[in-house]
Amino acid sequence: MIGVTTVLVAVLTLNLLWEIREQQNQVLEDLHEQAKVMATQIVAMREFLARNQDRINHDSLGNFEFKGLNPAAVGRGVGELFASMSDYRFKQTRTKVRNVANLPDTFEAEALQAFAMDRSLKEVVGRTGEGPDATYRYMIPLTIEKSCLQCHGGPKGELDVAGYAKEGLKEGDLGGALSIAIPMDRVEQRIVANTKRRALTIVAFAGVSLGLIGFLTHQFVGRPLDRLARIAKRIGRGQLQIDRKEIQPLRLHQELSVLVDAMSTMSEQLQDLYAGLESKVHQRTAELKEVNVRLVKAHDDLARLNQSQSEFYSTMTHELRTPLTAIIGFTQLLQQSNPESMNGDQREYLTDILDSANRLLQLVNDLLDASRLEAGQLRLNVGPVDLHDVVLEATSSLRPLARQKALTVTVELPNDLPLVPADDLRLMQVLMNLVGNAIKFTQPGGRIIVRAALQEEQLLVSVEDNGPGIDPSEQQVIFDLFRRSARNERVGGSGLGLALAKRLVELHNGRIWVDSTPGSGATFSFTLPLHPLNDTR
Ligand code: ADP
Repeated sequence: MIGVTTVLVAVLTLNLLWEIREQQNQVLEDLHEQAKVMATQIVAMREFLARNQDRINHDSLGNFEFKGLNPAAVGRGVGELFASMSDYRFKQTRTKVRNVANLPDTFEAEALQAFAMDRSLKEVVGRTGEGPDATYRYMIPLTIEKSCLQCHGGPKGELDVAGYAKEGLKEGDLGGALSIAIPMDRVEQRIVANTKRRALTIVAFAGVSLGLIGFLTHQFVGRPLDRLARIAKRIGRGQLQIDRKEIQPLRLHQELSVLVDAMSTMSEQLQDLYAGLESKVHQRTAELKEVNVRLVKAHDDLARLNQSQSEFYSTMTHELRTPLTAIIGFTQLLQQSNPESMNGDQREYLTDILDSANRLLQLVNDLLDASRLEAGQLRLNVGPVDLHDVVLEATSSLRPLARQKALTVTVELPNDLPLVPADDLRLMQVLMNLVGNAIKFTQPGGRIIVRAALQEEQLLVSVEDNGPGIDPSEQQVIFDLFRRSARNERVGGSGLGLALAKRLVELHNGRIWVDSTPGSGATFSFTLPLHPLNDTR
């Protein structure tokens, strides 16, 4: 809109400038014409006087009497009268004047020079002065004719009838020039006033057209588009229904009606989609609710099952532990009470019974722990623990076993280990399992090293052996319940120890893992944070 108006104003301004120039040219042409007519009249008058000099200067009896009405004198006289009656001026001028009033000004002197140099030059036009003094100048050459010779011809120096010395000019010589001056201030003022009026018209036109375009654009484009935008926004907010009354007026605008139709179709399609979507969402929600109910039920069933399983395990293990403890107690009593009354085989049988019963008791204890851990019922009894004590006790109790297989068990603990918040019995259980496994799986003559170190706010404990090692594929699964390595299947075991160790370490907020290269041994490591545990589980 602004662009259109700018172009329009630019065109009008160019037109105005062009018209000003045209006007100026026209004015100059008019002035030229006026000056030319005036000059012709004066030349005619001079000519008339020149031709009638004899008649003017002789009385009715034929006596010569100079009346002073030669062309030059009459021309000057008429010029003075003319100047007093109008703004226009004319004068006869020449380089050497007889009368000082006819002295040429700068413009006239230059024109006289030009006429003298170029005798074919018919006129000189120009302009002098500025503002109120601006004047249109017009000059034509005056040529000496036969009638002029009486006063200006020869012999040079002889006095003519008017008493002036003759110049000795010949017919055809340049006698002087006729100079006409027309004031230009009025015409220029007219041009300026004209220009102002036209400029004002342009400004008014630009203002009105800008306002009109603005009004029409707002009325026919802005408002309908605004309304459309509001409808689109409402659709965007989810209000898919379009009010027919609201869009009806928009249909009057041809281009917009296409847009309105597209929008209506879109809204209808969206409504359909939305309705479909809503019913689908309802359906899925109902399905999900149903699945959820079933899941909750399944979860409850599982929890109940888990509970009853744990209860079963605890009851079973408790029931098993009582007779087992009795068997172990009585067997030890038998061994100690009267060893001499038994022969070697009998003593060996008793030792076998005791070993088996102890292993069975260990298994039952592990099962009980596993079931408690699974049910989340196992609680830690946390206190400050000196790792030296725990490691020493674990290795000491296992040393006889190691000795049987000629294994070296080395403990490498730094002296300044801080106390660690832990359940000492459970920590012992973890260590017994790791060291026990190392002894169990390492071939006779091997070595086992127990290490500990302080590492970033935690204790790092590791048990290294040079036994058969564990395949990479099994290094994760051996920490699951009842999972054992195929490589060591021949060696007895329940597959419970590492699973319990993992859960116990995790109860301490620690982590357990194994690094092993099959054939070169295994290193089991676990961490224990040094900061106090939040709760005792
Ligand atoms: P168990 O020793 O009673 O079989 P664990 O849970 O303690 O059960 O160990 C799981 C399995 O991990 C073992 O059966 C064995 O295959 C493997 N394993 C554990 N410790 C070692 C070790 N130091 N060297 C080689 N294999 C081991």
